[in-house]
Amino acid sequence: MRFVIKPDNHKTAKLTSAQTYSELLVIARDVAKDDIKDTIYRESYSTDDEKKSRVEDQLSLSYHNKCAYCERLAKADIEHYRPKKKVSEDNMHEGYYWLCYEWTNLLPACVKCNREGAKHFKFPVIGTRVTHPSFLPDNNLNLEDNKAQNNPLLTENPYLLHPEIDNPEDFFDFFLDPNGEGIRIRGIDNDDRGKKTIEICRLNRQELRLERVENVINPFKQAIESSFVMWGNGSFNQAQFEQQILFQLNQLITNAGSVESTHTLLRKFVMKSHQNFSAIVLPFLNKKIRNVVLAAFKAI
Ligand SMILES: [Zn+2]
Repeated sequence: MRFVIKPDNHKTAKLTSAQTYSELLVIARDVAKDDIKDTIYRESYSTDDEKKSRVEDQLSLSYHNKCAYCERLAKADIEHYRPKKKVSEDNMHEGYYWLCYEWTNLLPACVKCNREGAKHFKFPVIGTRVTHPSFLPDNNLNLEDNKAQNNPLLTENPYLLHPEIDNPEDFFDFFLDPNGEGIRIRGIDNDDRGKKTIEICRLNRQELRLERVENVINPFKQAIESSFVMWGNGSFNQAQFEQQILFQLNQLITNAGSVESTHTLLRKFVMKSHQNFSAIVLPFLNKKIRNVVLAAFKAI
């Protein structure tokens, strides 16, 4: 998960149309959940290669084709952050039907994070749950109250982090799986919002633990270790080997700051301190080069 700015003006024409608003007003006034149309919040079209969605296209501008929760490159579902028809934790709740077309309630999420077994209808809150939409004195919807960053929704204090409101760097750290099966993410905040977000989206599933190593650690490890081999066979001298380490460390810094990268939360975490780097990256390297790599890290 990474912090994302998703501008309001990236909304699709269909989501902003007067027709959509008038249909939403009926849904909101009459709790007409059966009238919710996925053709509006998905709005699909066909290309020669695949079926696409205009809403997903617009979300991809902000999320760079990554899942909002796990940061993998993924063909996204259009996920309702607050579930539109029911809430797993409260049988009496009708779901957040009035947010079915709300831009701040739509996130791109991969199948594994979003569907049954993972997020699905889950939406636990710490505060008081909002049960109905707000209306203006003229009986129009109060659309400002529908935004995730405004009250009353903000004071629900959801356990699930919202990547456009919460800064994920405040909620997580990483550690090595004790059984050697990749890298695990862990919640660190006192309210357990990080911990619950991991549980809800299953952010420690095996494919993610292993992919963190494959995408973040292995390219660095392979580059450094092949330079070490070249030093060993005389193709590099020591100065050239150390220069290669510096180059690769700078590459890690660049990748951590790039919106195009996957797993940027982990990339930033390992580059934040030599303690993090030692705990997460060094154990994957050949023992003979760990000290020289750590010294180079401390020097940059
Ligand atoms: Zn995902």
